[in-house]
Amino acid sequence: MQGATLIDLRSDTVTRPCAGMREAMAKAKVGDDVHGEDPTVNELERYLADLTGKEAAVLACSGTQSNLMALLSHCQRGHEYIVGQAAHTYLHEGGGAAVLGGIQPCPLLFNERGELDLAEVESNIKPDDSHFAISRLLCLENTQSGKVLSLDYMSRASKLAMQYGLRHHLDGARVFNAAVSQSIPVKEICQFFDSVSICLSKGLGAPMGSVLVGDAETIRAARRWRKMLGGGLRQAGIIAAAGLYALEHNVQRLEDDHRRCARLAAAISSSRGLEIAESPETNMLFLSERVDIDNLRTFFKSRDILVLGRRLVLHRDIDDRALDVVIDACQSYSGH
Ligand SMILES: *Cc1c(COP(=O)(O)O)cnc(C)c1O
Repeated sequence: MQGATLIDLRSDTVTRPCAGMREAMAKAKVGDDVHGEDPTVNELERYLADLTGKEAAVLACSGTQSNLMALLSHCQRGHEYIVGQAAHTYLHEGGGAAVLGGIQPCPLLFNERGELDLAEVESNIKPDDSHFAISRLLCLENTQSGKVLSLDYMSRASKLAMQYGLRHHLDGARVFNAAVSQSIPVKEICQFFDSVSICLSKGLGAPMGSVLVGDAETIRAARRWRKMLGGGLRQAGIIAAAGLYALEHNVQRLEDDHRRCARLAAAISSSRGLEIAESPETNMLFLSERVDIDNLRTFFKSRDILVLGRRLVLHRDIDDRALDVVIDACQSYSGH
């Protein structure tokens, strides 16, 4: 298979469906999901709604689409959402909320824990005055660049949002990494948010798909937006089957990725010419600004190891043997 020997650390999106997942996809019972008639999609949506402690769920093509469906459902034209400067919804989704929803972002800096400072959030909530856009939504991300938000922080953020009548969305693309690393059920995280977008296509290993969970009214609105955004799929049970397989088999194993990431971080720390920016919390680590990244990328490439920028991501398709190869490369590298 082309590229099968490459060790791809660019992202956890590069995982390929395993034989068991492909078999589940092939055998999936399907129907027309636009008519709500796909039993496997319905099962996935019910399963994730229950698991996250929410009333309802809707399958989307991607995390970008699922986040956009949430933003469009919570906010209208002339509303504002408070979000991180480096947040995926603000920085990496083509400005969709502004372009398609007329929703103005109010971007703030994440601190070193991946949090928005709540005093700063509060001071950016606009008073009811016709000069201002209407503050409507607070959007957080967990994990944020691999960092896990504490339950205490999320609880305080949620109270602040409620106090000002803001809706509260979580971009939980990797929320299962957070839950597994804290050894808590994912619903303990989701309880603080009106909606949560969850990716099946990252470390969980499905080829595509994200699910938005929330209250019934929000999800009904999101389903309407999904259709308008071109995300109403027909026999999507084939996708949902991969998602169900991923949720059944690939959640707890995320701790293997976290363990390997910590092992890689230790190896990097003891390698000449290499340095990590900070200790990893989940499946991502970042190299320090002092590392000559172009040089390293070329060196890694010569050993069939791929990296993207300063980020190295562990995932289902990097086993202990592949990790040994990466660690060996790190130890041979001397910053030349
Ligand atoms: C990957 C990702 C998404 C969604 O990305 P898609 O590629 O559109 O599925 C959203 N938020 C975060 C933090 C992500 O890492």
